[in-house]
Amino acid sequence: MDYIHYGVFLLILMIHSSFEQNETVDVNKLETIRLWPGGIIPYNLPQAVYEPKQRAKILAAMRRWEDVTCIQFVPWTDKVEEKLREKRYINFFSAGNCFSRNGFHSTQPQLIGLGPRCLSMSTIIHELGHAIGLIHEMERPDRDSYIDVLYENINPDSRRNYDTTLSKGMNYELYNTPYDYRSIMHYPPMAWSNNNGPAVITKDPAYQNVIGRVDEISFFDALYVNRAYRCRDQCANQRLKVCQNGGFVGGPDCRCICMEGFGGELCESVVPGYRHIVAFRCQNEWEFHEGKCYLISSSVRVSYNSAEIYCSWKNASLVHFESSVQWNWLKKRVLEEIATGDKNTFWVGLTRGAGSESYQWGKENDTSRLRIEDTEAVNTQACGKWNGLNLTATKCEMDEDNGLICVKDFDPNCGGRHLISNTAIFLHSPGYPDQYPENIECEYVLQARRKNKIEIRFQEFDIETHSACKSDYVEVKLTDMYKPGTRYCGDDLLNKTLVSDDNVLIVRLVSNARNSGAGFRFDARTISIMPRTRTTRSNIHSSA
Ligand SMILES: [Zn+2]
Repeated sequence: MDYIHYGVFLLILMIHSSFEQNETVDVNKLETIRLWPGGIIPYNLPQAVYEPKQRAKILAAMRRWEDVTCIQFVPWTDKVEEKLREKRYINFFSAGNCFSRNGFHSTQPQLIGLGPRCLSMSTIIHELGHAIGLIHEMERPDRDSYIDVLYENINPDSRRNYDTTLSKGMNYELYNTPYDYRSIMHYPPMAWSNNNGPAVITKDPAYQNVIGRVDEISFFDALYVNRAYRCRDQCANQRLKVCQNGGFVGGPDCRCICMEGFGGELCESVVPGYRHIVAFRCQNEWEFHEGKCYLISSSVRVSYNSAEIYCSWKNASLVHFESSVQWNWLKKRVLEEIATGDKNTFWVGLTRGAGSESYQWGKENDTSRLRIEDTEAVNTQACGKWNGLNLTATKCEMDEDNGLICVKDFDPNCGGRHLISNTAIFLHSPGYPDQYPENIECEYVLQARRKNKIEIRFQEFDIETHSACKSDYVEVKLTDMYKPGTRYCGDDLLNKTLVSDDNVLIVRLVSNARNSGAGFRFDARTISIMPRTRTTRSNIHSSA
């Protein structure tokens, strides 16, 4: 995804600027990004250009923006034109690259280019973000406080992609939102690098591995659009909710939009580890939502019983519905999956004793909740099948035509930022002492006060063995946090001690799909008197 993402950025900006050269610019007036009147963005998504599933994906990306803002994407029709009294819409076409103009433009209709290589969810969301009025995060006028651009690693021709709005003479309103490493509008570190060195490094090393890797609209992306389009004005006649933990009232329905790490109707529930996690990441393919990891899979063919076994193999269980917030979120994701995937129904955890109605939850006549369709006789065990709207109780037959939804708790032991002092803290891999999960990436960023060094001592180290540590591995960075560190696997670090050169140390656990181990456990503390250290494997000392 990332490659496509930034491979095409080059073309995006070339087109941006070649268009912009043709516009008359009043040199006395700074260019301002214009917003769509009323937050309504009509679109033309030609059926002749996109296959049904591609269209479904683009529409799903629009729904993602609509879900957290008051932006409305509406199909362009004569009726809409009549109502708006002018021709204005974004016109999708299948370009060899991905691009969009920023905000609403005077020349209408305006083009948005999404070719076959641009159809990952994150790229579509990103390009729609431009159309709504968002610029790249690194173009913000305050970016120099958050990132360093290493121009020596960028072709001279490409360097202007890192111009800020200020240097381009644009007036970009920030709406009092902070710089956001987690923005869907942020580039990855290697974007436009012409060698193997990063083009961007984050001043806070904990975020180097976060920028450009998100696939969702971040909290601050949503806040920005809500403020720019004054979404809260539509809530004027309502009694406003009091959102907690930094959440705000917004979206299409004046609900609380919560910061990452918080959830519930008023953002009152707190995800364990929220203080030290920098990016809530589940395993590959799993989605994080409010403290849980979900696997919504339409690629397997399983019966109900094997679906239960499938989830338990992954240390998870078939999802049960626990709250309306959870259900609302899952409903959107499942409808998305149905539109773009191969299955129309999904196995969920539904069991019922003989004659019992215990699977039913929520209130009657509340359409926002589940409707149960029970077609079975009373005295049978029921299994649950869900299409995003209705839950059907069926016999537990060998029906393999359903996808499945597994759920498990997010493990806060996977990475995060930890402040280290002279009192040791203990950290371990997720699941420890059981095996660490497959397809996981956990980055532990240890930081101490200036002039301190950090010492870590491994009491346990059991990572899948491979001669070059190319399967699962632990990477340790002692010197330069922006360059690859040294990889370890097997029992390489058992009873070993490592010391950082400075006040930062990074440990990264990466696993593939097979053969995990018990993982690791280490303690970390600062030390004042230092032996000389290097990052070579030969230079690790025994702590015994
Ligand atoms: Zn872009």
